[in-house]
Amino acid sequence: MSDASRRGFFRDAFQSAARAALRAEPEPEAPPEEIVAPLLTEAEIERYSRQLVLPDWSEEAQIALRDASVLVVGAGGLGSPVALYLAGAGVGRIGLVDADVVEISNLHRQPLHFTPDLGVPKVESAAAKLRFLNPDVVIEPYQVRLDETNAAGLIEGQDLVIDCSDSFATRYAVNKACCDAGVDLVEGGAVGWSGLVMTILPRATACYRCAFPVEPEDSQSCAEAGILGPAAGVLGTLQALEAIKLLSSVQPPLLDAFLTVDLVSLEFTQVSVHRHPDCPDCGA
Ligand SMILES: [Zn+2]
Repeated sequence: MSDASRRGFFRDAFQSAARAALRAEPEPEAPPEEIVAPLLTEAEIERYSRQLVLPDWSEEAQIALRDASVLVVGAGGLGSPVALYLAGAGVGRIGLVDADVVEISNLHRQPLHFTPDLGVPKVESAAAKLRFLNPDVVIEPYQVRLDETNAAGLIEGQDLVIDCSDSFATRYAVNKACCDAGVDLVEGGAVGWSGLVMTILPRATACYRCAFPVEPEDSQSCAEAGILGPAAGVLGTLQALEAIKLLSSVQPPLLDAFLTVDLVSLEFTQVSVHRHPDCPDCGA
């Protein structure tokens, strides 16, 4: 045996002896298994089982929803799917702001309201359905029109505002109040066969006023331009989706951009926007 092959022989012998010694060492004793009480009740685990089973969902995400206070501005075409999905998902406290009563022309696109609700305040009609859907959720109806004079008071103490209103004046009032109070905001709008969604973290990402400094001259209301029920449903559902992402932190929302949705071509387009340093709502 040459010197080189002898060294190789001893090295191999030493290594296999070392491996055997390692194998022979007793396993370190495992710490006693900690008994962790579930954070959710059995009823909650059953109710939310289909989202709890999602790979990226967790009890902590569910509790984040349960602990959240959300204000939904508008209980109509966008507000209906938003409030339904948030109540269904287990958002603990949902405030509803709307001054109107249910009219028959609402019913094709506002699935929280039924024909027997005609003449009933929308917030009361909506609250009744949401309490049937999920009695564990606290619903707070506010039958008022949100404007610059009352926006700060309505938004105070909320974790998130979802703007489902139908006018630029209200959207600007909501945006300003959310920027002032530092409350996260999901904006949305739908008219005709299209709409947009925008998520805003005040003073961190572009706000609604950064993206739309002035009301477009050709803007039209749903009463003027018309709207298809499913168009409002798609846009409201996207707002609910963004809200659940924000509240649960399980997936990132779309920030510094708005999403336009064309429901004729079925095109979804993300448009990047940036904070304006001189924005009257969120600028320095
Ligand atoms: Zn801004």
